[in-house]
Amino acid sequence: MPLIAVRDLYKQYATPQRVVRALSGISFVLAEGGLCAIVGPSGSGKSTLLGLLGGLDSPTSGEVHVGPFALHRMSPAQRTRFRAARVGFVFQSSNLVPVLTAAENVALPLTLLRLSARERSLKVDTLLHELGLREVAHHRPAELSGGQQQRVGIARALVTAPALVLADEPTAHLDSRTGRDVMDVLQSMHRGRSTTFIFSTHDPAVESIADERIALRDGMIMPTSRGCKNHGDTPQHLGP
Ligand code: ADP
Ligand code: MG
Repeated sequence: MPLIAVRDLYKQYATPQRVVRALSGISFVLAEGGLCAIVGPSGSGKSTLLGLLGGLDSPTSGEVHVGPFALHRMSPAQRTRFRAARVGFVFQSSNLVPVLTAAENVALPLTLLRLSARERSLKVDTLLHELGLREVAHHRPAELSGGQQQRVGIARALVTAPALVLADEPTAHLDSRTGRDVMDVLQSMHRGRSTTFIFSTHDPAVESIADERIALRDGMIMPTSRGCKNHGDTPQHLGP
């Protein structure tokens, strides 16, 4: 069963000057539990695609299915609930709350779920341990290195045990060694879970860890994509 099916997806942004075509009719299917890279130069539509897969935004036309959820048919409130329960986001800069400790930042997404304080701290402690962050659990983001901050961001994305983890250029603001380290962490977090991971990058060194690859150029999928089925410009018809 594919986790993700995208069909003839378009996204346009109306600006005062002109209409920007960010995605121009893309279709693909990704199997559940994969590690997928979305690659392409700046402006090719990577962030737009990740935003649509995570229910941050709605498409101009086309379909986005994540498991049983048809995101293109959901209201903004339904998408918010979908995101809180099913999706973990890792951002370019880790986007941590500066006044909260590492542990408090990781715990944040859990406030939307009904858990006891004990269950919450068990989940947070387990992830901090897994990511080698136990010693800095009570430090604020400013006291952490860039790599540690990104690890906290990864822990925060995973703490709700989401079905889907989306990382938008998670190494863009890191030096290449730290970036490699963060990708190793993502890869090992993926290995132990049934979660589907999708990350975007424009770094060829980083995309090599993925088992599926969607190459975007000007909002379209390039034929050099691999692993994902039904890419290219032929719309794919899903079910009845
Ligand atoms: P990437 O992440 O690959 O750099 P984006 O998805 O951010 O690409 O952008 C794709 C295109 O859509 C670019 O031309 C960008 O300028 C445009 N775009 C993205 N977001 C907006 C927006 N909110 N309003 C207008 N244009 C946008
Ligand atoms: Mg982007």
